[in-house]
Amino acid sequence: MVKPEDVILEMNYCPRCAHPLTDRFLFGRTRRVCPGCGFIFFRDHKVATGVLVEQDGKVLLVRRAVDPKQGWWCIPSGFVEYDEAPEEAAIRECKEETGLDVRLIGLLDVYHYQSDFRGSGILIVYRAEVVGGELRPGDDASEARFFGPAELPQEIAFASNREALRRWQQQVQTQEVSRARSGSPDPLPNCWIARSSRSEFGSTESQEIDQA
Ligand SMILES: [Zn+2]
Repeated sequence: MVKPEDVILEMNYCPRCAHPLTDRFLFGRTRRVCPGCGFIFFRDHKVATGVLVEQDGKVLLVRRAVDPKQGWWCIPSGFVEYDEAPEEAAIRECKEETGLDVRLIGLLDVYHYQSDFRGSGILIVYRAEVVGGELRPGDDASEARFFGPAELPQEIAFASNREALRRWQQQVQTQEVSRARSGSPDPLPNCWIARSSRSEFGSTESQEIDQA
């Protein structure tokens, strides 16, 4: 039997008229096109979001109940649905996997990966704080709990998650050093780009829905 991870996902038939697609050199590279109706398949990334939720100096992780990396830990995260904004997806995923309501307070970083058999992806990681809910694992998470910077589990799934957590550990250490020197905490680096159309995450002017 063919394993899913051995299959490179490819578009073989036109989603518009079901005609078999052929390869043509268009717009600088070879792309799948439909000889029947002219459809051009622009292959693109999967977009995922995750939240780095801090509480009392600890970070929220979930244990994966499903493959890839079943049993390993990661930050609450998942794919953005096609009709939702990344911020809404981040808040929704955290609620589904941990039971906690969070408010996004900044952008940690954006990660590009090509290691997933389902396709290459972009992971947007936000910083977030808890505003409600009750901690309980759900959806594709079998456990959810907070870890201090020195007690992170060994088995962290995905290079992007390891990098995000490494950055968080560094920032926590930097804050501790500066607090020890000045006697007061440093504000977090302001890396957030405000959006004029959104007053707050999760609630938008047009009241959109709330991710994977
Ligand atoms: Zn077609």
